[in-house]
Amino acid sequence: MTLSITTAPAASSHTTARTVLDAAFPSGLGAFVDGKVVPGSGTSITLTSAATGDAFATYADPGTEGADAILQSSVRGAAAWGSLNGFERAAILRNVSRVVEAHTEELAILESATTGKPIRDARVEASKVAEMFGYYAGWADKLTGQTIPVPGPWHTYTERVPWGVVVAITPWNAPLFTAGWNSAAPLAAGNAVVVKPSEFTPATTVRLAQLAHEAGLPDGVFNVAVGLGQSVGATLTSDRRVGKVSFIGSVPTGRRVAVAAAEAGIPALLELGGKSANIVFADADLERAADGAISAIFSGAGQSCVAGSRLLVERSVHARFVELVAERAARLRVGDPLDAATEVGPIITAPQFATVTSLIEQGINDGGRRLTGGTLPGSLADSPLAGGHWVMPTLLDGVTPANRLETTEVFGPVVGADAFDTEAEAIARANNTNFGLAGAVWTSDVSRAHHIAREVKAGTFWINSYKTIHVAVPFGGFGDSGHGRSSGPGVLDEYTQTKAVWVPTRAAGSPFPSLSY
Ligand code: NAD
Repeated sequence: MTLSITTAPAASSHTTARTVLDAAFPSGLGAFVDGKVVPGSGTSITLTSAATGDAFATYADPGTEGADAILQSSVRGAAAWGSLNGFERAAILRNVSRVVEAHTEELAILESATTGKPIRDARVEASKVAEMFGYYAGWADKLTGQTIPVPGPWHTYTERVPWGVVVAITPWNAPLFTAGWNSAAPLAAGNAVVVKPSEFTPATTVRLAQLAHEAGLPDGVFNVAVGLGQSVGATLTSDRRVGKVSFIGSVPTGRRVAVAAAEAGIPALLELGGKSANIVFADADLERAADGAISAIFSGAGQSCVAGSRLLVERSVHARFVELVAERAARLRVGDPLDAATEVGPIITAPQFATVTSLIEQGINDGGRRLTGGTLPGSLADSPLAGGHWVMPTLLDGVTPANRLETTEVFGPVVGADAFDTEAEAIARANNTNFGLAGAVWTSDVSRAHHIAREVKAGTFWINSYKTIHVAVPFGGFGDSGHGRSSGPGVLDEYTQTKAVWVPTRAAGSPFPSLSY
């Protein structure tokens, strides 16, 4: 198989979302079905640059008929893909990994231009997608069942059976990363996938599917349904041809999707929001903890499910520590997402910009004191970026349990800080939320670190670190943050069903026990 490697357009201050999108999709954006980009015929959707506020493209929702055509294709794709053995699937997925790796720069530029994500972050996320396909390619030929000893003349074993068609609904904050996250594993397990990216950020998901097809995935095995959640998303997640739904997004939508899927008898895996606590003790390396706190909340402009949006600091160092964080936050380079020096980009969508700015005001009304933050950086006021959705890295101190920012996910560059006196109080504050996605502690006391890691209710917890994740390690939420896991070897259990097979080993005896079950 030959690799196709195209040269990506170089990112520069003249690169616009429109030029990047036109280069990737000269005939326009649409769903990706049976190896082709297919224009929709339903509601027209306009894409707007997060960095400039300019409308740069329109595309159409596929509508009910389009969704039906996608599912027909996926059912055929599932049959073809499921008939390959694990070694054949592994070889193709390894090639997908190689092709995606060869296109990381192109994917990163497309992601950055169409979402406003800083190019340095987009590069990391694109390379992680290649890694995901490589990792799960390694599992595709190692999916084994068990031989289970039972009393009597029986040979009993289990097999892993793919669900068939898996529908993955993904959010706008990391469209490429989440498309890889929720397609590599189900594909390795023998399913066809339909990814329905956020209507705000569909481009890199379509490009990823195109590359996967070029790398050898048969028609219909990786389709993309671009379009609206309440239209094509709702249709796909309640259609009985679908075996499993995986959803990444907000709590209210996740619950709606899970109910609709359940009514159609479809199980759903949910990866939802978070309100994670970053706990800093006086004995921590405070300079390092301040760097960690900055990265925890401001990378991705806080539009990260695991964002360390609550900063709990031991009282004796609280004033000094929030000062360290505020100084660093004020120095972060906010600006053109395609500039490699940019550390913080804009808010990706206009509605989210309105939500973030409103929640900052509410947090201040509830008693939070703004130590740093604001809306438009002065350096951008006279540039084409003036129309973008900019929120400066914001630190509010004195965010007590009475403040709505204690429990409300902002999903923007906003951290609320407060002081605590005892370890027990720190744990209680960290757990003072229905979410349970992530958290961290900074301390030089190793016993305390492990104790806190055990006590905080979260699917991922870091000690003297923040935000490190890897495809080989399970990731997912407790409580309102969802259930099921999206990475690690165990996720293959999410994307297969177990079949038990019984064979009598002796004709004598009764192979028909009397049991009503
Ligand atoms: P959202 O819930 O608004 O939308 C998510 C997806 O659901 C989109 O593709 C949307 O079109 C689709 N959708 C909407 N209504 C639907 C319906 N009725 N049926 C089917 N699909 C429907 O979320 P968002 O605003 O795009 O993303 C932000 C949220 O995602 C935050 O809460 C964030 O914490 C969460 N998130 C979680 C993780 C994680 O791994 N836990 C990762 C990233 C983002």
